[in-house]
Amino acid sequence: MHEYSIVQSLIDACEENAKANDATKVTKVVVKIGVMSGVEPELLKTAFDTFKEQTICDNAEFIMNIQPVIVSCKSCLAESTLEKLEYCCPKCKSAELEIVDGEDMYLMQLELE
Ligand SMILES: [Zn+2]
Repeated sequence: MHEYSIVQSLIDACEENAKANDATKVTKVVVKIGVMSGVEPELLKTAFDTFKEQTICDNAEFIMNIQPVIVSCKSCLAESTLEKLEYCCPKCKSAELEIVDGEDMYLMQLELE
């Protein structure tokens, strides 16, 4: 499953960060999940809970921030948040859009002890 390999690299990143900061525990992991990243939040949470045992993230709280798609319109230059996944500018209905946010998933914040 896609989510399992994501969690694996997430936990690797946590371990590297902890090592670099002389921490022995990760208490909180905050990730941002773009709605177009293809990551299923529920599956990601389950995968994290499964993988975290025996790792530095064993007692970490897992927080997911869902990032909507933000587009910038090339016709009217407006920046909008898309409520639905349809490619058209809410202001001028143009389809000439550039995606600004909402495509990626990444680690935003870690709390270490
Ligand atoms: Zn527009």
